[in-house]
Amino acid sequence: MTPNQPSLDELTQRLLEFRDARDWRQFHSLKDLILSLSLEASELLELTQWTPADDFEKNAHDERMQQRLKEECADVLLYLLLITERAGIDLQQAAAEKITANERKYPVEKSRGTSAKYTEL
Ligand SMILES: [Mg+2]
Repeated sequence: MTPNQPSLDELTQRLLEFRDARDWRQFHSLKDLILSLSLEASELLELTQWTPADDFEKNAHDERMQQRLKEECADVLLYLLLITERAGIDLQQAAAEKITANERKYPVEKSRGTSAKYTEL
């Protein structure tokens, strides 16, 4: 992480201030936040539509595509922060626990170089 970048907690606080200054909490049910996350993830997916995987990979570093990717990734993160705040989830701890669980599910000696699901290893 680059020094002086906001932590997830700081981003969440700023986001809540943004929301509350506009009196938008009333619209942010947990259900609608999850729905919004999915819509933003779809906007991210839309950037790839009709583009072969190799071309998209190359274009991802173009200035225009980089900006669009940046914006959609940020939208996804911001909704995720709102969801986890509302649900009382510590996102960083949840993510760390999930990586640990995945390390157990996909031991290197069994999963290296294969895309097989853990149930098939
Ligand atoms: Mg968006």
